[in-house]
Amino acid sequence: MEPYNLPDGDGHFGRFGGSFVAETLVHALDELKAAYARYRNDPEFLREFHYELKHFVGRPSPVYHAKRWSEHLGGAQIWFKREDLNHTGAHKVNNCIGQILLARRLGKQRIIAETGAGQHGVATATVAARYGLECVVYMGSEDVRRQASNVYRMKLLGATVVPVESGSRTLKDALNEAMRDWVTNVENTFYIIGTVAGPHPYPAMVRDFQSVIGNECLEQMPEDAGAQPDVIVAAVGGGSNAMGIFYPYINHADVQFVGVEAAGRGLDSGAHAASLNAGSVGVLHGNRTYVLQDDDGQVLATHSISAGLDYPGVGPEHAWLKDSGRATYATITDDEALQAFHDCCRFEGIMPALESSHAIAQAVKMAPTLSRDKIILVNLSGRGDKDMHTVAECSGIQL
Ligand SMILES: *Cc1c(COP(=O)(O)O)cnc(C)c1O
Repeated sequence: MEPYNLPDGDGHFGRFGGSFVAETLVHALDELKAAYARYRNDPEFLREFHYELKHFVGRPSPVYHAKRWSEHLGGAQIWFKREDLNHTGAHKVNNCIGQILLARRLGKQRIIAETGAGQHGVATATVAARYGLECVVYMGSEDVRRQASNVYRMKLLGATVVPVESGSRTLKDALNEAMRDWVTNVENTFYIIGTVAGPHPYPAMVRDFQSVIGNECLEQMPEDAGAQPDVIVAAVGGGSNAMGIFYPYINHADVQFVGVEAAGRGLDSGAHAASLNAGSVGVLHGNRTYVLQDDDGQVLATHSISAGLDYPGVGPEHAWLKDSGRATYATITDDEALQAFHDCCRFEGIMPALESSHAIAQAVKMAPTLSRDKIILVNLSGRGDKDMHTVAECSGIQL
């Protein structure tokens, strides 16, 4: 097998990826490409990145054997990669550290981001505070209303949150506004994208920053579990926690990758966020990928119980991994994710994020079909404290 070396120089993963942006951004993206090419293997840059991951984020995060639950299921051994233990409670901060270090080297004084549920906004506001840079976060006004506590968190961290009143007043409108800001303020502004989407070089760059997850697993699994995993399972919103754990294993042909999309109330209901399973090829957020869109190319409204999976597109590398057959993409409904959330609390004493609960639910489905000597490694991308209100509401409990 040829070693994997995508994307190509223009950011293509087969027919996916690339760069579809306004002319005014071409220069900024060229500048970013050059900076990333220069620093990605620069010892001083990498030293600072890993220093921050250790001292600010708390890495390495451990791998953990979900032993009691695995025994109960009576099949493969389920292991968790504990990204929930990171500062700010999820994997997103890994990438934000990488990008803000690049922003500093480019001399950019101002950071912008867009956010749906607010998790990427909080991670960005966190690193901007850490480095004393101005931070502006675009958020649909409907999301501002729904996610009041994350809005307050960002404000506590010193960020300005700009409610976006156009369109459906959600993530896709915030994306457009952030792009517009970047075009206008490109000289002094760095746009921190929170997942493996956006125009080239973002998908590859975010993947590389998140690869710290899989690189740690490569060392930890033989040591702690006695072997590398047979299957790796991760939830896919935009796809960054999944690429982060998959990518270091990409040339390990015997390690199976399973991404998990949000089936919401069911794929037939239309209320879901399963771009790879139910979308069609289109352009969103500056790249070609699978998109949930109507026949006229209008982006459709999405639904998931988990805000972080509620995204109408998916990173272009996942589109490629799906078409090439290197990864498969399952779906898990709201109800299945909720069940996994409750079971994980009870069996393991770990409260997972609802996003991660999708991946866990898929592992729980697969484990009994595999023998006891097999290992399923699940990326536990974040902790569930943020989701307590949602879970309580689903159980008819008022907090
Ligand atoms: C944002 C988020 C996700 C989804 O984003 P990806 O880019 O697909 O990883 C998954 N889990 C958690 C905890 C998140 O906060």
